Amino acid sequence: MNPVVEKLGAAVDEWVEKNNAQLVSTRRHLHAHPELAFAEFETTSYLEQRLREVGLKPRRLPTGTGLVCDVGSDAAGGGPMVVLRADIDALPLPDQKDVPYASTKEGLCHACGHDVHTTVALGVAMALATLDGLPGTVRVIFQPAEETIPGGATEVVASGVLDGASRAFALHCDPSVPAGTVGLRTGAITAACDRIDITLTGPGGHTARPQLTVDLVDALGRLITDLPGLLSRQVDPRSGMSLVWGAVNAGIAANAIPQRGSLRGTVRVLDRELWKDAENLMRSLVERVAATTGADVDVDYVRGLPPVVNDPRAVALMRAAALETVGHDHVVVSPQSMGGEDFGWFADVMPIALARLGTHPGGPPLDLHRGTFDVDERAIGVGIRLLARTALHALEADALSDPAGPPAPPRTRRPAPGDTSARRAVEREPDDAFHRPADRHAG
Ligand SMILES: [Zn+2]
Ligand SMILES: [Zn+2]
Repeated sequence: MNPVVEKLGAAVDEWVEKNNAQLVSTRRHLHAHPELAFAEFETTSYLEQRLREVGLKPRRLPTGTGLVCDVGSDAAGGGPMVVLRADIDALPLPDQKDVPYASTKEGLCHACGHDVHTTVALGVAMALATLDGLPGTVRVIFQPAEETIPGGATEVVASGVLDGASRAFALHCDPSVPAGTVGLRTGAITAACDRIDITLTGPGGHTARPQLTVDLVDALGRLITDLPGLLSRQVDPRSGMSLVWGAVNAGIAANAIPQRGSLRGTVRVLDRELWKDAENLMRSLVERVAATTGADVDVDYVRGLPPVVNDPRAVALMRAAALETVGHDHVVVSPQSMGGEDFGWFADVMPIALARLGTHPGGPPLDLHRGTFDVDERAIGVGIRLLARTALHALEADALSDPAGPPAPPRTRRPAPGDTSARRAVEREPDDAFHRPADRHAG
């Protein structure tokens, strides 16, 4: 193990243990006061205050809500810098839990665990702020509006606050695995998600005489079934592309063919390259099918989010941290999710890795985006220790490859038999260093 990571990581462990009660009450405060995307004003002020209390200097993001806060050596002074990102927004869902920390805001709930992500990032910043000898800068970003399309991450990327950092890391609650478990995956871990709205129009008419008009309901039915079928033959089956309808509307009377009908659905894909072509592909398929029906067609296609594609090197750094945090038996392979996550935008400017933080508290299964969602709060400490160590490993790796950092052993020297110094310089983790437990992630 890297001696710097070992020493500072142990100090973080100690900090977490000492501050556990305070961390739980922080999470409960955030949980009780959820705010929607780009309206996270109280959350932002609360975080600002907590960060200032430990001598940090958070800055507001240009979005008005959300913060960026540097910990460690002054970034302007050079040296490596890594980004840790938490999302801070809640959902427009009623909280259905009967707990003392239930939402105090009608119709709003932290049902995606962003209160946990926020508490973890705050904890990492506060814990690292107590340490001397941080081998670089940890830039913690409290990002607004993850639950929107295209997501607050686009504005974070555009604002330039990621400039100068080598990698970005994040985590997301995973209610399918118990607290104390960390899920990792190289490559796509979440899917791209776009929205498609199709409107068909025609002259309308009597259902007794469909031959004299365009049968719009029949045309909608063809689009509903033909489009997913055609898509499955137009794209590589390995790309994980799927079109699923969520809404269809047309007509009122049983005996009148309507003049207008609409379809709405989502297009999801795990392949980032294919995602770039998804809009053109969908538009051309819709036109082909609609042309066979005679209906006029209008397509509104909204490009949403790219997939989160985890960089292998960034995952290796996270895996080293996870093994030290929860041990080999509790690091699992995360399945790919067809859900969306706007952290994927960060990959436009740097390698990224998103981990899954087990939060299931026992009892019946729980899912995200439900008013019943809750977590085992022991996951907060695990998240802080995981992300803090990940940042330390990443800074150490960057310091080794940074000309301003400690010199790496010469690479051209042929190692003497038994000499492992050159190998140590290039930190590596075996690819099979984590395993899939039986019975989990059966899908
Ligand atoms: Zn969500
Ligand atoms: Zn989320």
